[in-house]
Amino acid sequence: MLYHSTRGNSAPVASSFAIHKGMVPGGGLFVPESFPRLEPGVLPTAYPQIAERILSLYLTDYTDDELHDAVAQGYSANFDAASIAPITFYDDTTAYLELWHGPTAAFKDLALQLLPHLLRAAARKQGSDKEIVILVATSGDTGKAALEGFKDVPGTRIIVFYPKSGVSPIQEKQMVSTDGANTAVIGVQGNFDDCQNMVKEIFNDAAFTAELAAEGFAFSSANSINWGRLVPQIVYYYHAYLAMTANGSIGMGEPVCLAVPTGNFGNILAAYYAKLMGLPVSKLICASNANRVLTDFFETGIYDMNREFICTSSPSMDILISSNLERFLYSVSGGDAERVTNWQNGLAKEGCFSIGKDMRSAIRGIIAASSISEEDVAKEIRRVFTAREYLIDTHTAVASAALARYREESGDVTPAVIAATASPYKVCQAVYDALAHEGRADDEYMIMDVLRDITGVVIPQALRGLDNLQARHTRVIDVSGGREAIRSALRPGA
Ligand SMILES: *Cc1c(COP(=O)(O)O)cnc(C)c1O
Repeated sequence: MLYHSTRGNSAPVASSFAIHKGMVPGGGLFVPESFPRLEPGVLPTAYPQIAERILSLYLTDYTDDELHDAVAQGYSANFDAASIAPITFYDDTTAYLELWHGPTAAFKDLALQLLPHLLRAAARKQGSDKEIVILVATSGDTGKAALEGFKDVPGTRIIVFYPKSGVSPIQEKQMVSTDGANTAVIGVQGNFDDCQNMVKEIFNDAAFTAELAAEGFAFSSANSINWGRLVPQIVYYYHAYLAMTANGSIGMGEPVCLAVPTGNFGNILAAYYAKLMGLPVSKLICASNANRVLTDFFETGIYDMNREFICTSSPSMDILISSNLERFLYSVSGGDAERVTNWQNGLAKEGCFSIGKDMRSAIRGIIAASSISEEDVAKEIRRVFTAREYLIDTHTAVASAALARYREESGDVTPAVIAATASPYKVCQAVYDALAHEGRADDEYMIMDVLRDITGVVIPQALRGLDNLQARHTRVIDVSGGREAIRSALRPGA
């Protein structure tokens, strides 16, 4: 399997090259040349075995042993659920796919517990003698998940940039309390898009890259622009499909809808890739919070990021530039790198681009998008808890509400899986407020306990005792300070 650039600016490369580099030098994202067919009916049911099977279809320059070792280390006791990604049924036709049983209580763990192992093997295969420096821009969850995945992994350093005022106190505490000799966490005075742009610019800065290469460092990415992040995410949609058939919600071969709370468009892209591989998926529900840039795009064909950035109760989806949309458009356009390049140039120059009628009608059959207001997010948390005593987080609630709206408006009642992307305790202030409980609690840590008392839902190990941890990383920079911060993080003794 070879990988192409969405912008046609790279010769085809092996998967280990794509994973090692993170993104195409000079801009563009690596995409596989084809999508191998895989019928869910032929799969074993255990999560690690499904993972090995799917990885082996895409990472064809890895040996079976390398993939087996990566999966064995990636998915084991580091998850607090034996099935890794358990399903909870709301009713016979609606299920929540719980992707938050890993070490940081958000779905990013499913990919980031695996990626360090894939990346180390990739560096070996590429004959690189450099230390890998993972640069991460995070809207809250990727940062901690990447830190947990990479901390103390030999041959790697990890530097995380997060919007200083754009993450929840719990998310921030999770990140800045990280130990490990190879970690750095830096607050940025700006929003997530500022962080992401800063990191992308640094990746594309040839002079800076050369400066660090001379000191023995090579950059890579743990954001979902890295192919090694996306391929593990295909796995859980197959796993969920098998759980739906095992429950009798659908017969083997019958379609499901997948509702995905969307930010950078990585998770829903993996769902789309599963569909291309033959997983019977009818519609993908692209659920956005009040930052409705994607909803507007799917409604009008115009992607326009010239708008207010809204800080919502689902901060991991507060994004105006959805990087992985580029891969989706590449695929839907039949691999038209020239058109993709034009769109991306428009986005870079004017913050805006428009796709043609042909693209719009192709997309209409695949995606139904909607944007959920803050008020409706809270209502959905309350509704689901009242009906089933099942507690969902704000991100999951966005998808849950979007599915309900889609069903009501379209009359399509195909059985559906909702991606539950974070533990409700990760955003406990908002969840607590949504339940409109009469009591009072002063900080997020007390709220955690109160929520547990009201709901009886167990607090994930990953989030217990956070209030007693020390902040080890305190540096804050403005958006122009990225390079200097990297230099000093990598300097010996820093
Ligand atoms: C990252 C994240 C999302 C958005 O996923 P994308 O792949 O960026 O679209 C949704 N929910 C949670 C909890 C997240 O951490």
